[in-house]
Amino acid sequence: MIKRLYYILLQRFYVFQKKNQPCQGKVFMFHKVDDENGLYSITPEHFRSLIETLMKNKKIVDIDTLVREKDPDNVTITFDDVYESVYRNAYPVLKEKGIPYYLFVCNEFLDRERYLSSEMIEEMLKESKAILGSHDMRHLPARMRDPETVRQEMSGSKEELEKKFKIKIDSFAFPYGSMYACSDENISDASKVCDYVFMTYPLSYHETMGKVLPRININDQTYEKECR
Ligand SMILES: [Zn+2]
Repeated sequence: MIKRLYYILLQRFYVFQKKNQPCQGKVFMFHKVDDENGLYSITPEHFRSLIETLMKNKKIVDIDTLVREKDPDNVTITFDDVYESVYRNAYPVLKEKGIPYYLFVCNEFLDRERYLSSEMIEEMLKESKAILGSHDMRHLPARMRDPETVRQEMSGSKEELEKKFKIKIDSFAFPYGSMYACSDENISDASKVCDYVFMTYPLSYHETMGKVLPRININDQTYEKECR
């Protein structure tokens, strides 16, 4: 409990320190695209409206471009876990608009009920600008686990996805992704497995972060603010 509070405060302090740095792009994090109205869901209507507004006012880019250009108007779209509602309600929009987006797939969720199937991923990779990333082998907070097991599972997740979908994977998103869930050692280990490491620090991007990326959670409550 005290440990948890310590890391929550540590992350708040980190966010506070970095909050006034100039914005050099933003990475958005989505989970479900459905009518659940939860902290981790956005309705299909709001999702489409956000994408259409972003296309008018900003540029939706892949992570190489965001890190390279350092442009405050650049936005990268990511999905975690990944739920079947993303295939049903977000994929048609992303395909229609021809914009890049990341699918951070957790190996243990793949092909399970309510999550993406391998066939869906294959279609999304083929028919749209989907980019596949790893969301670890199991959906557990890395900091609470044996670092060696975490290292093995990070590599294992990437290798398994690469083999299954015959593509190269260079992005990793930590489950939970906060300072409470990930230690500096975990982040350093992930950086050895993949070029880009995605966290859940609620900040815009700044070059001082290198390739360890903060992400802003988008839901029905937050999407309008991000339309501006
Ligand atoms: Zn997750």
